[in-house]
Amino acid sequence: MVVLSVPPEVTVILLDIEGTTTPIAFVKDTLFSYIRENVKDYLHTHWGEEECQQDVSLLRKQAEEDSHLEGAVPIPVRSEHGVDDTEQIIQAVVDNVYWQMSLDRKTPALKQLQGHIWRAAFTAGTVKAEFFEDVVPAIRKWRQAGMKVYIYSSGSVEAQKLLFGYSTEGNILELFDGHFDTKIGHKIESESYRRIATSIGCSPNNILFLTDVTREANAAEEADVHVAVVVRPGNAGLTDDEKSYFNLITSFNELFLPSST
Ligand SMILES: [Mg+2]
Repeated sequence: MVVLSVPPEVTVILLDIEGTTTPIAFVKDTLFSYIRENVKDYLHTHWGEEECQQDVSLLRKQAEEDSHLEGAVPIPVRSEHGVDDTEQIIQAVVDNVYWQMSLDRKTPALKQLQGHIWRAAFTAGTVKAEFFEDVVPAIRKWRQAGMKVYIYSSGSVEAQKLLFGYSTEGNILELFDGHFDTKIGHKIESESYRRIATSIGCSPNNILFLTDVTREANAAEEADVHVAVVVRPGNAGLTDDEKSYFNLITSFNELFLPSST
């Protein structure tokens, strides 16, 4: 097994999720298929709730802005003549969601409804987050060795808490000292990593960032953060240059902490 020694100044391990702790297929396939298969049922079940109506209003506004786009699906407003057109509106919302997802759009309106559908699924136990098998035992070991562990993902902090709160290994939120999302900045911008260090109260070179994406690794390194690129089944391949330039690990067990001697 390859062993990568963690530099002695490292006190914080910062983790990406997709492709690092969790198979990309779980996010891309399981979570997004769940939306397609369940959006209609979700709308029926929650239609009477204010939150659901707010989600629909936001999608309707987005649909108005999108009306010039090819294939855009408008969402009608409720009839004022006492006609029950709920079914028709729900179908329009479903069609709109399908259309947006087919273009891989990330509009706030779509993300908000998706977030609420996933929340319902996770809290009901219908969906459980998956991690590579080395992940949770390694994090426990790091914590015992005195490391702090943080998450940095483009998924919202709210979504991150669902993943770690409702996983195949139960609620493991207590293993993390904090969470960052793109509110602190994009993952391919080095300034984001400086801000994270400031927010944690350490210096960038006290942090080791683990990610599968080399553009993120480059940005972190530019900020003087230590990085290792995680190679997992289902991840995008690396070029030969990337393979020789970066420290690579295929399992968290390959990290060797100086304090664990
Ligand atoms: Mg990733």
